[in-house]
Amino acid sequence: MKIAVINCGSSSLKFKLFEMPGAKVLRSELVEHIGEPNSSVANHFEAIESLHVNFSEIDAVGHRVVHGGEKFRGSVLIDDAVVQTIRKLIPLAPLHNPANLEGIEVVRQKASNIPQIAVFDTAFHTTLKKEAFVYALSYALYEKHDIRRYGFHGTSHACLLHKAAALLGKKVQETNIITLHLGNGASACAIKKGKSCDTSMGFTPLEGLVMGSRCGDIDPAIVLYLQKSLHVNAEEIDEMLNKKSGLLGLCGENDVRNIEKRTDEAAKMAMDIMVRRIQKYIGAYMVLLEDVDAIVFSGGIGENSSYVRERVMNNKILKNIKSLVIKTDEELQIVNECLEVLKK
Ligand code: ADP
Repeated sequence: MKIAVINCGSSSLKFKLFEMPGAKVLRSELVEHIGEPNSSVANHFEAIESLHVNFSEIDAVGHRVVHGGEKFRGSVLIDDAVVQTIRKLIPLAPLHNPANLEGIEVVRQKASNIPQIAVFDTAFHTTLKKEAFVYALSYALYEKHDIRRYGFHGTSHACLLHKAAALLGKKVQETNIITLHLGNGASACAIKKGKSCDTSMGFTPLEGLVMGSRCGDIDPAIVLYLQKSLHVNAEEIDEMLNKKSGLLGLCGENDVRNIEKRTDEAAKMAMDIMVRRIQKYIGAYMVLLEDVDAIVFSGGIGENSSYVRERVMNNKILKNIKSLVIKTDEELQIVNECLEVLKK
């Protein structure tokens, strides 16, 4: 059985074709710069066209969908109602859900008979309890406006959980770990007995760890100060926090490979701030979990930077905890979930 995985970003499309079971990769493609000026690919439809996919040989298509809100607690077979709900969630993920829907629509147009499955970035975190997901704001903001922690990178954290459990020789439902997905976007997850019990990204992917160009946790009053005293408008603040902060804001670049090599104060400070934030989350999650089987490092930085891993683990308390380096594979997790949905 051949299952394709499509991951539509706002300006990119990843395509992977698997032979299942066994998850042998038959084809792997990346189309970038979709819809950008001077690009030959105007939209996701053209991106798929450019790959000359033979849909008649494909048995199912799995889509990464960023926001499933509270509605989707796991992966689902896509029908009109599912598409409607993903569309309703656009205000919560204005950049991502429209691109994900475009991918679904393209396949529907090209091969309406192929079952399609939506795999949500948020679904893994729907096991969070209220004390983890409700912000200490007026409760009406949650009830009436859906403002709560959703968490993201769920497919990656789920993949890391399964791989870590296998490495530890434990059943998934008995595994207690802290997973660190450290890429350009970064998040931590406390996993208790195989379920996400807290995670660092929140209402949006902006909260939590110091990222490539996102600030992570800050005092929300800074936003008000920027608005009132520096007369910066909402779009400008959005740009400042999401695109001009984090490692980039602190030291002028976000590639950890380069920052590691630099000897200047700004680079050292950026690393110090990033490492300290990771340690703060680990500390908090150790208290929540009580028993921690391992700390799992993943993502471009977690998988490749022994410097960051050593800096994080260089601590009297953490020294006694097992750390694992695991390559995350979101497409593999998606294709496995597709198979589960198709079996039902
Ligand atoms: P994305 O979130 O865009 O998928 P990745 O998971 O690919 O990001 O991670 C990108 C980050 O990984 C970059 O900051 C890059 O510097 C870092 N990285 C990749 N390779 C290395 C390496 N060998 N050493 C240190 N950092 C690395």
